[in-house]
Amino acid sequence: MNNNLYFLKSGVLSGIEMHKVFSIARKKKFALAAINCIDTNSINSILESSVINRTIAIIQFSFSGSIFFIGKNFSSNKIESAIYGSILAAKYVHRVSKYYKVPVILHTDHCNKKNLEWIDGLLEFNSNYYNLYKKSLFTSHMLDLSDCNIKENVNISCNYLKKMSKLNINLEMELGCTGGEEDGLDNRKISNYKLYTNPENILYVYNKFIKISNLFTIAAAFGNVHGVYKKNNIRLVPIILYNAQKLIKSYFNNYNNKNILNFVFHGGSGCNKKIIIESINYGVVKINLDTDIQWSFWNGILKYYLNKKKYLHNQLGNPSGIDKPNKKFYDPRVWLEYGKKSIINYLNKIYIIFNCINLF
Ligand SMILES: [Zn+2]
Repeated sequence: MNNNLYFLKSGVLSGIEMHKVFSIARKKKFALAAINCIDTNSINSILESSVINRTIAIIQFSFSGSIFFIGKNFSSNKIESAIYGSILAAKYVHRVSKYYKVPVILHTDHCNKKNLEWIDGLLEFNSNYYNLYKKSLFTSHMLDLSDCNIKENVNISCNYLKKMSKLNINLEMELGCTGGEEDGLDNRKISNYKLYTNPENILYVYNKFIKISNLFTIAAAFGNVHGVYKKNNIRLVPIILYNAQKLIKSYFNNYNNKNILNFVFHGGSGCNKKIIIESINYGVVKINLDTDIQWSFWNGILKYYLNKKKYLHNQLGNPSGIDKPNKKFYDPRVWLEYGKKSIINYLNKIYIIFNCINLF
């Protein structure tokens, strides 16, 4: 048991509890992996890997991941589907994380300006939930207003920070722009300068936010891209995060060498170990992994298929006989489990790099 994390209980953490974890993460130089989940199988994979490694799970749902959870054709109103999907997925995580005995941070991923009603709907639900249980359904929500200019981004974000902090929910804010394509948001052709946040802008945001609440994290872009691409096509510059920490500390006449900002690293898939360790040293406490998890899941199933190919093309007939049934091979519970095991094997390795094992 890590004594600093004595307050941790199984189940979903509040925004304040998450911040306690993150301040220990900054001090002890570890980051938590945040995984996009889309169904109970992916949620169970993350919980199982957290039990094995004694780490804190960050389970997050994107807008389209939430719609997928409830069923893509549930409603023609996508906002409505996303609200219901996120709530149902969150309720499942609340219940099941207690049984698995794992502390969980429950988060929603990129919400752009046109989908703000999704977060509005969740905050309305959170507010009623808070009145009943004195805690919120979610630990944290992300706003991605990188389409707006910085003033508009900060104004809208400040309004949400006011509402969310009252409900003990953290706000994750995107500053700059993550490249690539995710969840229907295509940033593959944005201008290069947007991929690198100016530390002065981070100070500007920090100054505005800290007057309202400290329940915020910043996804500051330092060349991050969603997806996995050919090496050399991406140039990550984590020193931007170091410069921002330094600038803010000198602005507040704070000259110790501790990081004060909690940074979120988007597009962690495919990144090399050196960059990850460097960014953790500069205050990254949460690293988002989606593409590598998608690939691990698929790769587990692909390997199973290639290994059992002769049992998987017909209902009857395999190397043991022409009338032999193949039910035990094409049963989805069998091959979904291979996908799950493959995710867990991947995470077992990544948690060591993130330095986040044996936390409780
Ligand atoms: Zn992202």
